[in-house]
Amino acid sequence: MKILILGVNGFIGSHLTERILRDKDWEVYGLDIRFDKLGSVIRHPRFHFVKGDITVNKKWIDYNIKKCDVVLPLVAIATPATYVKHPLKVFNLDFEANLEVIKSAVKHNTRVIFPSTSEVYGMCTDEIFDEDKSNFIVGPINKQRWIYSCCKQLLDRVLWAYGFEKGFNFSTFRPYNWLGPRLDSISATKEGSSRVVTQFIGNILRDEPMKLVNGGHQKRCFLYVDDGIDCLIKIIENKGGVCDREIINIGNPDNNITIRDLAARIKKIFERHPLVKSKVLKKKVRIEDISQDRFYGEGYQDVTFRVPSIKKARTLLGWEPKYDVDTALMKTVDYYIREYIEDKKRCGKELR
Ligand code: UDP
Repeated sequence: MKILILGVNGFIGSHLTERILRDKDWEVYGLDIRFDKLGSVIRHPRFHFVKGDITVNKKWIDYNIKKCDVVLPLVAIATPATYVKHPLKVFNLDFEANLEVIKSAVKHNTRVIFPSTSEVYGMCTDEIFDEDKSNFIVGPINKQRWIYSCCKQLLDRVLWAYGFEKGFNFSTFRPYNWLGPRLDSISATKEGSSRVVTQFIGNILRDEPMKLVNGGHQKRCFLYVDDGIDCLIKIIENKGGVCDREIINIGNPDNNITIRDLAARIKKIFERHPLVKSKVLKKKVRIEDISQDRFYGEGYQDVTFRVPSIKKARTLLGWEPKYDVDTALMKTVDYYIREYIEDKKRCGKELR
């Protein structure tokens, strides 16, 4: 099988590529503006990397979509702080650029595996979000946080329409708060444009308090990236066509915790880390409250809870998430601590 991954250096793209090259005999064609998360896989004989931009390298993309069996358009801005600050950037990249990719895939009849998002459900009041039954509830236009949700929702609908009218084959997956190594770079956490787990780890490493937006009572279900990649591999394999024109949630309903609890767990894991206990790294972990207006600005609205139904992933694919939240957090914290220390050493800076 030949697979095209656009945004191959991202969190999902880099983990997926690593796994495919380790476990499968598939060829991977990858495009990204950077390659810092790819490590040694960049030299793998079955990996064909091109440094480029999906808004520029359109001919290369069209040619490779024609050549490949499957395309995963993973390029997107996926951080709430950016939806609030730069909604047009989100629209240009997440919607406009990806629509072109989808149209090219339809032209060449290449299967699309599309990364939708748990954000499409918005403030849905269902206890468990069902791919085929739950309603999407988003806020007013002046809450620009919802631009990402709406961009993804419309592309989900466009794909569905191509399937419905033209028999086009696609599968859509919806990640729920995946975490793990390489989630966001620590420099992004400095600007506040990262997801909560990396934001908190970045706060600790910069001697800042972790900030709980609105008291941190909102809940999220956290999924370790290896579990997500297990499911994604099964979707790509698509044995017996079980994922044809299906939308599949990928999350862990058992790892449903408040953001306050998340901060407390990260604090504990940090303080018990061998490099912190042995004082190689000296950090004092603090937690404080902040209002959503101060943290994100007025264009933000929060989601109070978000629990996936994973019945479909279980029954269609026989998939089951394995990692509990503490194991997932321990692996992630450990990765960022080691990266921080390496980085300081590289720059010849003193460790604190
Ligand atoms: N959040 C927080 N402090 C931070 C960053 C985020 O309390 O430093 C909260 C945020 O308001 C949201 C939750 O953590 O309720 C998850 O945020 P994230 O950015 O990971 O994305 P989301 O799950 O909302 O898409």
